[in-house]
Parts: sequence; structure tokens; C-alpha cells
Amino acid sequence: MSHSSVIAATDLREIIQQFLQNPPSGTPKEIIDSFTGLDTGQYLSPKLFLQIVEQAPIAISITDPSANILYVNQSFEKLTGYPRLEVLQQNESILSSASTPVSIYQDLWKTIKSNRVWQGDLVNSRKNGEEYPAELIVSPVLNANGQISYYLGMHRDITEVHQLGQRLKFQKNLNEAVLNAVPMIVALLGSNREILMDNDAYKALLGDFKGIEPAHLLIEALEQQLDINLSTMCQQAEGSFRNIEVRLDPPNRPPRWFACSGTRVSELDEAARHYFKQSTSRCCLLLTANEITQSRQRLHQARVNMLRTNVAEQQIMHSMQEAVLAAIYKLQAPLNVIKAALAISEQHDKNDSLYHALEQAFITGEQAIDSLQAVLPQNSPEQNSSINMNELLEEVLHLGTEQLLAAGITIDWKTIPVLPAYIGKTNALRNVFKYLLDNAIQAVIESGHDYRFICVQTAIDNHELVIQISDTGVGIAVAHQHKMFEPFFCGWQHNKSHAGLGLTMAQEIVNDHGGSLTLDPDYISGCRMIVRLPLGEIS
Ligand code: FAD
Repeated sequence: MSHSSVIAATDLREIIQQFLQNPPSGTPKEIIDSFTGLDTGQYLSPKLFLQIVEQAPIAISITDPSANILYVNQSFEKLTGYPRLEVLQQNESILSSASTPVSIYQDLWKTIKSNRVWQGDLVNSRKNGEEYPAELIVSPVLNANGQISYYLGMHRDITEVHQLGQRLKFQKNLNEAVLNAVPMIVALLGSNREILMDNDAYKALLGDFKGIEPAHLLIEALEQQLDINLSTMCQQAEGSFRNIEVRLDPPNRPPRWFACSGTRVSELDEAARHYFKQSTSRCCLLLTANEITQSRQRLHQARVNMLRTNVAEQQIMHSMQEAVLAAIYKLQAPLNVIKAALAISEQHDKNDSLYHALEQAFITGEQAIDSLQAVLPQNSPEQNSSINMNELLEEVLHLGTEQLLAAGITIDWKTIPVLPAYIGKTNALRNVFKYLLDNAIQAVIESGHDYRFICVQTAIDNHELVIQISDTGVGIAVAHQHKMFEPFFCGWQHNKSHAGLGLTMAQEIVNDHGGSLTLDPDYISGCRMIVRLPLGEIS
């Protein structure tokens, strides 16, 4: 057969047989099924065989090694608009379009000339000039010597697939544009908490948190606050939450607040067995968060102002308590002496005027103590509530801002970003930390050092919430270390206004919470007080 003549049906069968020996990947099954009949041993008649190829629902062409067309089927005619007789002897390049980059053709030729199958997408032109995207497979057909005799081309119109793809791309771009335009933080998390998608606001937050995934911190805080496991939330019917406010403490930065919402999103299984019966392959969580730090700060400021008033009142009451307790304590000593003297005199002469004077003094003294005890200001009982310890400590620092500024003290804030909620007496614990901070400030002032730091540190250790307040002040002499928690001990050089009951009371409050307030004996740069509060226990 000459390459310049129209291909005969018997040659066509031979070509197809060679093709079937190694069909290119992606060859439609219908084509392979149609051609496979040839391999049964009972060869189809050339006429029947031609009918099969003719009616195949894909554009088929057979060319010589220079791409001159020797045969096209009916689908080719229908798709390209070229009648068969018009296209025979023409080069396949009649289908070429300027919309296809030359590099595609170069790649096609490079591939097929090296005896390999080329498969790819390009743009074809119909006879009327209309363009359509096509998926093309070109397969070399080799002779017995392994040389290329023909090329078999198969292509189909992929306009619908292309349009769908374009629409998907547009939808994706639109989604991304919308996501990035909203000031809200958006992140989609997979079941293993991997970030599947995020927006620009989220990326900016990631930068602020120095690469620590903010979504993970938010989830951790939400889990503690809501007491749920977000990984299993997907399996629950109401897998969503709305506007839960959480606080994050970025490293060496002021705290930030977010109102978080979460919605369960199911990803459909792409496996073939779920083609007709849809099934969820995995569950994702769409996390959205609005930053509410500014409004929180305003609220916080108002709260700190209110607390400042309360604390001032409490300090007045505390001073009165100290003064009255000190008076009782001081009255108790002479009364004990009088009591002892009365006991001795009783054995001698009860009618003695000295005895009566002592007795009168004792009764008057006891009455004075009773009167003092009656006026001793009492603390009103406080209920337990949920405490965010970082927030409480921050309030305490705000309350001490003026003193800290006046003393030129720098605060080193070393808190862990997310602390579990602690159940305890908020006001009582705030007083404890305010008292410890006041002591730290006083110690730094008394030291006269230029290096003026107070470090506030929080940690979790062995199911305990550990809060440390360290200062670079005068420190506590070893001889005084065991006395400092005793009532009426005052070691200050320049502040004698306190009766020395503060630490005793602070220790009592911490003990009431089942915790401990101790001094770190190994800390030598000043003084370090350690408060340990057991977690998970309601005192
Ligand atoms: P051309 O100058 O023909 O080719 C562009 C580049 O392709 C050249 O610069 C060169 O690098 C390379 N090239 C072209 N011909 C050869 C060659 N004989 N040997 C080595 N390199 C060469 N094209 C389509 O656009 N649509 C089709 O549906 C299509 N089906 C094909 C089916 C078969 C079986 C074969 C063998 C080829 C098919 N082609 C098809 C490719 C076609 O032959 C042209 O190469 C292509 O259309 C580009 O034509 P052109 O006139 O724009 O540029």
C-alpha cells in the first residue's frame, strides 16, 4: 500500500491489530471492546470491522508518518466539519489553531517520533473556523521492523469539561477573593487538625504568632472552654458552635481576644464505589474568628477602674483589720500577765485591794477585746467562679500600673498562651496577687538597684497551676525566710505602715484553695514567691 493512497480496509485491520497489542493508556473502553473481536481467532470481515471503526463515538484518524491523513471515521467528520474526501491527503495540521502554544505540538512530535504515545489537550479548528478544546491521543503504529508505519489519532471534544473546569476555577478565585476580602479570620481544619484552607487575615495572624498555628491555639482554648473534643464534634449531630469568646496570649505580646464560630463541613468520598451513592470521606471544621480585642480592652479598662475602687476599699478594710487585730494582739499580752497575777493572788488574799484592782483591769481589758472583736471588719463570703488566671494577673498588673511606672519597674510577662480555667474565689485570689505584687514593688524600691524587673510567670506543672512572681529587689535574708509568713512580722526598712499580717492572710487564702504559697529559697536575684493551685478541684 502506498502512503499517498487511501488506506485499504485489510491494512486498516492490520493497523488496529498492532494497536491492540499495546493500546495507549486512556483509550476509551468502547474502542478496545470494539476492536477486541479481532483477536478471537474468527476475524471480522473487513466490512464489519470498518463499520465498527466508522461508528466509534470518537474522532479517529490514521495518518502516514508525516501526519498526512489516510483515513477518518464518521465522528471525525461530524466533529471537525470536514467531509472525508476533503480531508484525505491533507495534513492533520488543518485542525491546528493559533490558540494552541507551539510547545504543545513540539512535545507531541517529540513524543510520537520516539515511539511513545502522546496524550494531551489542545485547541482545534473546525472547517468553519470555530475552535473547540480537544483531548487527543496519538499513538505510533509500528511495522514488523519496529519502524513507524502510521499514526493513529483519537480525539474528542472536551468543551463541557473545559467549561466546567473554567467555572470551577472562577468559583475558586471568587471564593478566595471573598475569603480574603472579609476581615474575619477563616481556616478550614481537617480531622487531624491540619490546615486545609485559610485566608489572608489568618495568614496575618500566623505572622503575629510567629508561625504557631493560631487555629490550633484557638481550638485548644475552645476545647477547654466548651469542654468538648473538636475532633469528635464531627460525629455529633449539632456539630457547630457560635461566638465563643477566647483569649490568646501571643509570646511577648499583649493578649488578644477572638469571638469564634465553628461549622462542621463534610468532604465527599471520591472513591469510585461512591459514584452513585454519596458518602462522607472525612469531616472538616470551618473555623471563623472575629478579633474583638479592642472592645475587650475597653471593657477591661472599665473593669479595672471598678476593681481599682474595690481594691482601694478592700485595702482600707484590710488596714482596719490589721490595726484592730494588732490592738487585740497587743492587749492580749498584758491581760495574760494580769491573769497570771490574779491566779497567784487568788491563793493569798482575795480581799486585797490590789487583787480587786487587777481583777477590774482584767475585766475591763476583756471587755475592750470583746469591743474590738465586735468592730473587726468581716470579709463577705465569696462564691467560687471560673477564673482565667492570665486575665486575673493582668488585672492585678493594671491595678499596679501607676506604682510600677513611678518606680521605673519593667514587667516581664511570661505566661503560657492558653491556661485551663481555674475554679476559685476571684476577689480573694486577686487580693493575694495584688499583695504579692505590692511586696515585689516595695522590695525593688528598697533595693535602690537600677536593674528593676518583676517577672510574672504562669505554668502548668503536675496538674497544678503555678504562678511565680519574682523581683530583683532586696530579697529575704535567710534568717527571716521562715518568719515571713508569721503574723506581725515586718521586714521592710522604709515601710512600717503594715502590721505584718498580709502574707499570713494571703497564705490562708491560697491554703483555702487547697494550694500553697511559698518562697523559692534558691532564688538569689531578689525574691520569688510561688503560688501553686491544684487544677480540677473545686475548693
Ligand atoms: P507545524 O509546523 O505543522 O508544527 C508545529 C511544530 O510541530 C513544528 O515546529 C515542529 O516542531 C513540530 N512538527 C510538526 N510536524 C512535524 C513532523 N512531521 N516531524 C517533527 N516535528 C513536527 N494537530 C492538531 O492541531 N489537532 C489534531 O487533532 C491533531 N491530530 C493529529 C493526529 C495525528 C495522528 C498526528 C500524527 C498529528 C496530529 N496533529 C494534530 C499534529 C499536526 O500534524 C500538526 O503538527 C499540528 O497541527 C501543528 O500544525 P501547524 O501547521 O500549526 O504547525
